[in-house]
Amino acid sequence: MKILVVEDDLVTRKLLEKTIRGWGHEVIAAENGLIAWEIFQKEEIKFIIADWMMPEMDGITLCKNIRSLNKAGYIYFILLTGKDKKEEIVEGLEAGADDYVAKPFNLSELKVRVSAGERILDLEKELHKKNNELSRINVKLEEISMTDSLMEIGNRRAFYEAIKKSHHRACRYLQHYGLIMCDIDNFKNYNDTYGHIEGDTLLKKVADTLKSAIRLSDDIFRWGGEEIVVIVHEQNKPQTKLVAEKLRQAIESLKFEHKGCARGYLTISCGVAAFNENDKNNQWKDILDRADKALYIAKQSGRNRVCIPTDKVEPEPSS
Ligand code: GH3
Ligand code: MG
Ligand code: MG
Ligand code: MG
Repeated sequence: MKILVVEDDLVTRKLLEKTIRGWGHEVIAAENGLIAWEIFQKEEIKFIIADWMMPEMDGITLCKNIRSLNKAGYIYFILLTGKDKKEEIVEGLEAGADDYVAKPFNLSELKVRVSAGERILDLEKELHKKNNELSRINVKLEEISMTDSLMEIGNRRAFYEAIKKSHHRACRYLQHYGLIMCDIDNFKNYNDTYGHIEGDTLLKKVADTLKSAIRLSDDIFRWGGEEIVVIVHEQNKPQTKLVAEKLRQAIESLKFEHKGCARGYLTISCGVAAFNENDKNNQWKDILDRADKALYIAKQSGRNRVCIPTDKVEPEPSS
């Protein structure tokens, strides 16, 4: 441990330096509080043994200055003092000293007190390490609690947080945002035909494909089951519809086998709605509701298509 020894009396200072070095510590010596204060500000020092009475700056002032810095990590401070009246010792401890050793001091007593200080600093270091670990774990937990483990995109909780922010921002700065509700067509049949495990693999594939098709600045979440919702930032309804069409095409162009549906390959349907100036009094739930209704229209009118709420329901062409 690096220990800063502050003592104006040359003989005592030399004795302390030699003895403490002999205990295996690195020692920096200063002849008064002012010099110690300058050293302290430049060097990484966690342990100080300082005399009380010194010219330029005494030990009490040094201690108060150090405590007022509020440096990260604890600094252990032992005061050496010829004063041994109770009130004086209280004054020393009140200035922020952790311990005191009365002069003329006994070296073995000093050794014990240095070891006690060292133990406290070790514990503090350990605590600091554990706190850092805990913070890292908390960040990871927060991430896990917001992520869908199968699709590896945000879950519904993450969607709620994101949409609230997007909606607030759009209201505040009169921006647009679009919502796309995507739903895999005839997915139940897919599970029935290929099994649930293959169904899971497909869900991940669809999420990956959609994730690569959107802009990095947009957000994608699993709404639930085989439904995915995308927030398209700063885009109006026609622009969001174009994004949705791109998503639909991205899945269609996989030409991924799906014997359980009329087309023979995997498709998705999308419902689109967007927030605009007229929606100022609406909640994000209203926009979501419109996207959901549009998705319903897409399903009713034949699947593998993108609809907005005003689209008419056209019957599914008979194949
Ligand atoms: P539509 O075209 O009308 O959307 O038909 P669909 O079959 O896709 O819709 P439906 O709501 O009837 O069925 C959804 C299916 O999604 C049923 C459910 O078993 C399946 N599903 C939901 N979550 C999971 C999951 O995590 N893994 C798998 N493999 N299947 C899931
Ligand atoms: Mg002195
Ligand atoms: Mg569904
Ligand atoms: Mg479906």
